[in-house]
Amino acid sequence: MNGSPFSCAASLTRARWDSRQAVLDLLIESGNQPLFLAIQRGLVLVLPLIMVGALAILIRDFPSASVQQMLDAAFGPQWRIRCGNLIDGSFGIASLALLCALSGTMATLYNQRHSGPLVSPIMAAVVVLSCFFVITAPGDTAIWREHFSLNRGLLVAMGVATLGSWIFLRLARIEWLQLPFRMMGSDPVVRDVMTVMPAGMLTILCFGGLQWALTAAGVGDLYASTREWVGHPFTEAGSSLGTGLAYVSLSQILWFFGAHGPNLLFAVEEHLLIPAGLVNAAALQSGGEPVFIVTKSFIDAFARLGGSGSSLCLIIAILFASRDVGSRKLAVFALFPALFNVNEPLLFGIPLILNPSYLIPFLLTPVIQTLTAFGATALNLVPHTTTVMPWTTPPLISGFVATGSASGVVMQLINLALGTIIYIPFVRLSDRVREHRGKRVLSGLLRAAESSETGIGGRKCLDRPGDEGRLAKALAEDLALALKGNLQLFLEYQPQIGAKEDAVHGVEALLRWSHPIYGRVPPPVTVAIAEDMGLIDRLGAFVLAAACAQRAAWRGQVPDALILSVNVSPRQLLSPTFARTVIAVLEQSGLAPHLLELEITESTVLIPDRLALDSLRQLRGMGIRIAIDDFGMGHASLRYLQELPIDTVKIDRSLTCGGPGGLNEHIVRSINELSRSLGILTIVEGVELDTQLTRFLALGCDTFQGYLFSRPLAPGDCLRFIGARQKNTQPIGVPSAGDRSVMVSRETV
Ligand code: C2E
Ligand code: MG
Ligand code: MG
Repeated sequence: MNGSPFSCAASLTRARWDSRQAVLDLLIESGNQPLFLAIQRGLVLVLPLIMVGALAILIRDFPSASVQQMLDAAFGPQWRIRCGNLIDGSFGIASLALLCALSGTMATLYNQRHSGPLVSPIMAAVVVLSCFFVITAPGDTAIWREHFSLNRGLLVAMGVATLGSWIFLRLARIEWLQLPFRMMGSDPVVRDVMTVMPAGMLTILCFGGLQWALTAAGVGDLYASTREWVGHPFTEAGSSLGTGLAYVSLSQILWFFGAHGPNLLFAVEEHLLIPAGLVNAAALQSGGEPVFIVTKSFIDAFARLGGSGSSLCLIIAILFASRDVGSRKLAVFALFPALFNVNEPLLFGIPLILNPSYLIPFLLTPVIQTLTAFGATALNLVPHTTTVMPWTTPPLISGFVATGSASGVVMQLINLALGTIIYIPFVRLSDRVREHRGKRVLSGLLRAAESSETGIGGRKCLDRPGDEGRLAKALAEDLALALKGNLQLFLEYQPQIGAKEDAVHGVEALLRWSHPIYGRVPPPVTVAIAEDMGLIDRLGAFVLAAACAQRAAWRGQVPDALILSVNVSPRQLLSPTFARTVIAVLEQSGLAPHLLELEITESTVLIPDRLALDSLRQLRGMGIRIAIDDFGMGHASLRYLQELPIDTVKIDRSLTCGGPGGLNEHIVRSINELSRSLGILTIVEGVELDTQLTRFLALGCDTFQGYLFSRPLAPGDCLRFIGARQKNTQPIGVPSAGDRSVMVSRETV
């Protein structure tokens, strides 16, 4: 096949898949870098301020005189001052808040990833705050306030927070810089702070030195110097397409790194774009033709739909294509401000700043939109922009106001559609990155759910530190919703095969949760989270009701004696209402009690709770069967088989591995012999190979469950499987020429 068109196509597909995987891995890895994580989380932490500021700006600068008059009439002119206060207290200090959030988050992540002295996140914020004041040190204290604001201070704040925290956390690790306070005092916080105090002092001194060096180099005000530096290339430029593209691109690049692009490039607006608009307006008034295509109104109306980065397009793309509930909720929140071109909620919430998944569309969309609008204007399909309008004028209205023509609105609609189309694949990419990252965390959570360890709050998953705990909390919220809707939760059924009667002995109902983002959540995680949240009774009742209803619906289509096994978690069994729930479900479904088997785990039988044992005895007294699941995992001893009200023992998968004559085989033989003498049925779990089956048949076991026969199946498939086995007359385990093919057909039914 080598060299054939097929192999060529296959290797091309593989190469494409590999490169896609490599991009995903790169994005996940970069997203996992402590610096990126800290920036993302720092930005999200200041979101309350951003939302308040965005709304206050929106109300204060609402682009409608009649609304403003209405507010005047309702609240008096004072409402503007109130809005101003809100803006000063939110946007006005957002950079300072981000500085603290970022440095605190960096310290938290550092503590999670390194051993050594614990660095207090608050101390990191305090140290970096001091660094910020040292480096910004203006002669005039009024200018300090500007450094705190979102518009002016963001870039410096992010720079100082990352550099300051980095220096502080590195110095905190140097042993000879640590004060020997660790063994003294009773307050551990005091000890921690004192230990790394020299590191904090040295960090601030470093910034003192930096500030001195900058002043010596003539950089007194970092922001003003940056502004001068980025605006410099435009000083000789005219208002051409090139200028427009350069302005839009640079503005986006600056925003991507956390600097307010339009503010840093205000000189371009002031000296080129606004005058160009005024020239156009004057020309129109004097009956002439407008000259400039690229004006401030042109950029605002066609390349900033919803603010820089054409946020409105991103919002529509998220609402249209994202499967992430969180992003969709944020998009709904951000929609109202974005309708008035306030884009900060997305810049901070998604966040777009320093987010590699959105780099390309964030830069590309406004550039493409500038090009299309420029082309349409040059071809006289859209009139030149001649009106200077408030920047908060909503898209579609602004298209009409700026051009005085409906074709301006059509142009905006085209740009809106184009921007949305550009963003959509990246919204999906971002979903995939989130999913992959989530799945990695989910496998950690599965380990926690399967272990017997609990956190300080006695909870297995919700008390986990870091990402696992956070994911557990998010899943807990989603599980509560899923339980209300019941749409994402459903059951699959795995057949249990009886060798003697050569038929399906029973089916085990297994819980499935199809999460919109993380896909299938492993059942042990779902169960552990439900236990942590106190939702286990509701979840257990749902499983029991769905399974019994299913078994009742199969009546007449499956063997009359087909047993339905349902798993019961230890906490579920502790509930005083457990027995009542089981009885009610049986009554509701009309299922005979002897067809229901409750699987309790080995650890449950160790619970020294009389109530739990009493309800088991009560239910068994009614004819319901009781099985011990995962027997042989090490908790219970064989003695329990005699003492407890048990009908079935399910031998754990861990015992089915291992070669012939091994220790596991001896254990299985003992369990089987003892069970048989007590009249207890044994089911061997996790049988995957026919060699395993042959071995266990030889040991005297006769009921099996495992992938060799069937994986857990949807109800319809399970019914077909049972039907097909009823017709199959070949007894299992009887070696024959076609043995292997029989096994294969069993698996594929
Ligand atoms: P379990 O009760 O021991 O269920 C058997 C598990 O082993 C199932 O995993 C099944 O898919 C898997 N399995 C079956 N045959 C094979 C095999 O041949 N090879 C391998 N590798 N695995 C096999 P699943 O569905 O992921 O469930 C895992 C555990 O989650 C269950 O173990 C049970 O403890 C718990 N669980 C599942 N559904 C429920 C439920 O509705 N309620 C409660 N409380 N726990 C549940
Ligand atoms: Mg089970
Ligand atoms: Mg089991």
